[in-house]
Amino acid sequence: MRLRLPAERPAEPPTGYKIAHPMLSQDGARAGFTGVSLGGALPYGVLDDASCVYGRRHRPPARLCDCGFHCVHEREVAEALLCTAEHRAAVLLEVSVLGAYIRFERGFRYARQRVRTATVGPCACGAAAAALADAGWGRPGWRALAAACAGCVRARASVSLAGFARLAGQGLRVIAGGAGAGGGPPVAGEGFGVPELVAEAALLQARLDWFQSQLARLGERGEQG
Ligand SMILES: [Zn+2]
Ligand SMILES: [Zn+2]
Repeated sequence: MRLRLPAERPAEPPTGYKIAHPMLSQDGARAGFTGVSLGGALPYGVLDDASCVYGRRHRPPARLCDCGFHCVHEREVAEALLCTAEHRAAVLLEVSVLGAYIRFERGFRYARQRVRTATVGPCACGAAAAALADAGWGRPGWRALAAACAGCVRARASVSLAGFARLAGQGLRVIAGGAGAGGGPPVAGEGFGVPELVAEAALLQARLDWFQSQLARLGERGEQG
């Protein structure tokens, strides 16, 4: 006897939650995400199809495999994962579960995904994120990014939250959340409004201040030497 799961035909795609690391392509032209565990080797775009992480020739979510995108039903469950030391720099994603899916008690495993919202936690110093900056690791062709405030971003390669949303495309919204951020207004990739431009200006100003302080220090040393 072959057991079959009950088929579901939802009127609209189910919503799920997961955590991931934001990624920037080597040429800085594309933004995406990479998972924190299974499938972490394969960065994905905002709208993307899963492929079998074991390279098997079937379409995820294959019943006898564990490939495919994964998410949980409850936002709090995904947020709880961000507490562990190795996941502190990850971001919280709200996703639409598209295509075929298998429903589990705690979440879905599925074929196709649209990331609707990315909530970026605070900078390591505790201030609200103004940018996503080079985190110091990556995958071939992709740099991992982590939240940075305007004061801590310094000379690291970085993109503003709005810049990340624009590169990622597909209407992704990026929100500065977490301690001290007060939730922050969502930042969409399409068209910069006044809040996004003010945030961009603050980030540029902070970087300029930092460069000028470095130049001044070099100047002092030059006079002494
Ligand atoms: Zn598979
Ligand atoms: Zn900081």
